[in-house]
Amino acid sequence: MKDIKNVFEKKGYKVKCFIDSKSACEEILKDIKLEDTIGIGGSVTVLDMGLYQALSDRGNTVYWHWKSEDKKESFKKAKDADIYLSSVNAITRDGKIVNMDGTSNRVSSMIYGHRDVYLIIGKNKLCDNYEAAIDRIYNICAPINAKRIKVNTPCASTGVCSDCDSPERICCTEVIFHKKPNGTNMTLYLVDEELGY
Ligand code: SF4
Repeated sequence: MKDIKNVFEKKGYKVKCFIDSKSACEEILKDIKLEDTIGIGGSVTVLDMGLYQALSDRGNTVYWHWKSEDKKESFKKAKDADIYLSSVNAITRDGKIVNMDGTSNRVSSMIYGHRDVYLIIGKNKLCDNYEAAIDRIYNICAPINAKRIKVNTPCASTGVCSDCDSPERICCTEVIFHKKPNGTNMTLYLVDEELGY
């Protein structure tokens, strides 16, 4: 992942590289101050790294709909947090970040509204170009995630996309970052380990 560090730096992101998720996790816990409030998007990467637990245990206020009984309230509070923590669906060698969302709270929060956005990205998310990123999203991320969250979409059972009209479709909005949005600090934590889907 080190070889793409300067591609994303030229796009305005702060970029940090790590050999594994443990060292990335330690750095993120240093970067987040105790007084910071944190919102988290739907992210298996964040879940597997144990960040929610580590932040909660040390006393940070963390809002995550995956860990809340009141999801609507959690969405609202996460939207107003100082820091938004998530992963992404794909990045490309020429510096694009590509995401697809259902509810779209995650992509919305990445774009605007937080002081800092921290994105943790495993090596499995790196794609050669935009076309490969979209293929990855429709035929790898979405089917696995649809099955995991038990939504009624064709890909959840077939494992491939059929551009469905399901009311539970999980890829409703496509957001491409061509460059870091103005007015938000964004840090990418690039990790040389497979993380999430
Ligand atoms: S469009 Fe439908 S079938 Fe295709 S990946 Fe998204 S949810 Fe699955």
